[in-house]
Amino acid sequence: MDLKQYVTIVDNYPKEGISFKDITTIMDNGPVYKYATDQIVEYAKKVGAEIIVGPEARGFIIGCPVAYALNIGFAPVRKEGKLPRETIKVEYGLEYGKDVLTIHRDAIKPGQKVLIVDDLLATGGTVEATVKLVEELGGEVAGCAFLIELSYLDGRERLKGYDVHALMQYE
Ligand code: 5GP
Repeated sequence: MDLKQYVTIVDNYPKEGISFKDITTIMDNGPVYKYATDQIVEYAKKVGAEIIVGPEARGFIIGCPVAYALNIGFAPVRKEGKLPRETIKVEYGLEYGKDVLTIHRDAIKPGQKVLIVDDLLATGGTVEATVKLVEELGGEVAGCAFLIELSYLDGRERLKGYDVHALMQYE
């Protein structure tokens, strides 16, 4: 299946000059959403994932069905103040300023093999921060999976040393 035909390109969103890749037109099509999920499930099996970790909010959309299909858990990574129990946090740089991501302190067991999942790899900042959280909890990052990789932003370089898998590439 050519997944790219189900991605909607939205020019000048969220601001002038950005060509946004809208994945909701994958999600709202049952067979296409299932196909994309199945591809990531295969990758998760290959790397031996024992738990899926995904950053809010689109990481949940991709990560949760993968966890369900494999009968393994999903641990959410969220912005500060959103998780109800004890968390650890990491600051990461945005284009302007910085943001904070958090995870529950007991979300991952030491040595557990973690697959990090998000919809799209751009600069890699979000997933790099997620990797730090997972490793601080003693998890082993088995791989990072995405629907889409924006190759020209070199996120893969930022995740050097980790196994990165993307279903689609945009040059
Ligand atoms: P990064 O941290 O790699 O620079 O940016 C990736 C994050 O931004 C992901 O969590 C992703 O959801 C979001 N993102 C950035 N650009 C796009 C886009 O064009 N389409 C979608 N769906 N998400 C994007």
